[in-house]
Amino acid sequence: MSKLSLRNVVKRFGNNTVCDGIDLDVNSGEMVCLIGSSGAGKSTLLRCINLLEPIEDGEIFLDGADISIPGLDPEPVRRRIGMVFQSYNLFPHMSAAENVMLAPRRIQKRTRAELRPEIEALFARFGLADHMDKYPDQLSGGQQQRVAIVRALAMKPEVMLFDEITSALDPQLVGDVLDALRALKSDGMTMVLATHEMGFAREAADKVCFLKDGKIIEEGAPDALFASPKRIETQEFLSRALK
Ligand code: ADP
Repeated sequence: MSKLSLRNVVKRFGNNTVCDGIDLDVNSGEMVCLIGSSGAGKSTLLRCINLLEPIEDGEIFLDGADISIPGLDPEPVRRRIGMVFQSYNLFPHMSAAENVMLAPRRIQKRTRAELRPEIEALFARFGLADHMDKYPDQLSGGQQQRVAIVRALAMKPEVMLFDEITSALDPQLVGDVLDALRALKSDGMTMVLATHEMGFAREAADKVCFLKDGKIIEEGAPDALFASPKRIETQEFLSRALK
């Protein structure tokens, strides 16, 4: 059984069909990368998985249970699926540690004292041990983005979604954030990423899906897809992306 399964997921904005019958399986501990031009529907697909957008048709299963049933309370599901965005959106008036503890304190009613050791371990895991008590404006973009990852992990999600999380970073800061994703994968996290980092997708993904006009038109193991894409659209996209 796949950890996450999408069956014929359809999402429309008015007359614009942004996800057009998406089937996707993500097994436990796998990293799946969604690639494709801007506007292909990658971000919307991630938002649908996290129930930030209602879908028009199809089903989304988490651990075999349909989470896309209309009327279902999205909150318990969202706690099981963490999401990190391009903009890290940390609260500027709170330290990194306070930002990370906020949701577990408010939602899970856990105390700072109880959370501190777990949070310290997470900060250390992602190279942020010295930055827990700093404020966001004292941190680089790459550090802030890693704090945002830690913030999502503090809720102990089963699946993590990443939407272009390195796109707003200066090039020299991208590597540390990609290292954080590698660390997370080696810890066994199930992950879906929308990314423009083709080198990273090729090296780290278990599966790469190429989206165009709301459809996955080609998918496969990264080496095969990057070395010998079958569809002309994939070839054209990769030749532009890898220039
Ligand atoms: P990608 O992440 O691949 O760049 P997106 O999912 O952001 O693609 O966008 C896919 C399409 O959905 C685009 O045509 C975009 O304009 C449209 N879209 C995304 N969000 C909304 C929205 N909230 N309302 C209307 N259209 C949207």
